Amino acid sequence: MGWTCPPCGGVSRALALSFSLLLVACSDDESPEAPSSAPATEQPANAGAAVVPVVPVVPVEVPPLSAVEPPPAVIEPEPVPPTLPTELPSLPQLAIIIDDVGQSLPVGRRVVALPGPVALAILPFLPHSQLLATEAAAAGKPVMLHLPMENMAGLSIGPGGLTTAMPEAEFRSRLQLALNAFSPIQGVNNHMGSRLTADRQRMDWLMQVLGERQLFFVDSRTTAQTQAAFAAETAKVPSVSRDVFLDNQRTEAEIDHEFALAVAKARKDGAAVLIGHPYPETLRYLERRLPQLEGEGVRLVSVQVLLER
Ligand SMILES: [Zn+2]
Repeated sequence: MGWTCPPCGGVSRALALSFSLLLVACSDDESPEAPSSAPATEQPANAGAAVVPVVPVVPVEVPPLSAVEPPPAVIEPEPVPPTLPTELPSLPQLAIIIDDVGQSLPVGRRVVALPGPVALAILPFLPHSQLLATEAAAAGKPVMLHLPMENMAGLSIGPGGLTTAMPEAEFRSRLQLALNAFSPIQGVNNHMGSRLTADRQRMDWLMQVLGERQLFFVDSRTTAQTQAAFAAETAKVPSVSRDVFLDNQRTEAEIDHEFALAVAKARKDGAAVLIGHPYPETLRYLERRLPQLEGEGVRLVSVQVLLER
């Protein structure tokens, strides 16, 4: 008929149905993509009148209504009932203080690097007292003044020490000097002190000053006659007492034995205070041992946590 079918693809069959008079014979090219891409053109009403080449119309296939699937129902998630806040199981708490820090910088830094909130009890007027206090505080470690106090054995207590021979004014001024030796200081514990802590009068003077400065006190309990906790209570100074000395015997077996005692005390009473020293044996033990604690159901806490109990 002299008309060349445009590249209509599968359109020609649809045309045969819609415009049978055209008798367009074009059955090739059934590309499935063609119908939608072929241009749609409206047909004149007198389409049956002649063999006029017509641009084919692409019928739009409209599915019957019955065939239209309803949109999938939106499934609302089941409302989750509000849950009551559940308390974490309270683990036994262990606080550790390392005394006698300040003489050696590398040793002090090793204490700072111990896992968890292990407190540094730093002696005043030592070469690295201030630097270690600064570094410990920056590392989030509790920082304490390890206050030298007179002992029963007559041992030297080092610079800044307090004795039972001091009258009140001297006692207070020496104490203030020691408290100002470095900063920050969050609390105090006694270095030695088996004679001085048994002196209630001087413990009262001590606690008055600590109260004014809002510092806490840890009684190292170097004597059973200590009056420190009673004086602290009277002055309303938060305080706690040492339960176990970790390293009176510096062998791994003894240190491990004392550590186990502290853990047992924490399990039994809910908390324990353990005091150690920066000996190589102690640090080596704690570096290895502390990461295991949580897995054993014991929480390493800062000593301040125990003050709030
Ligand atoms: Zn000490």
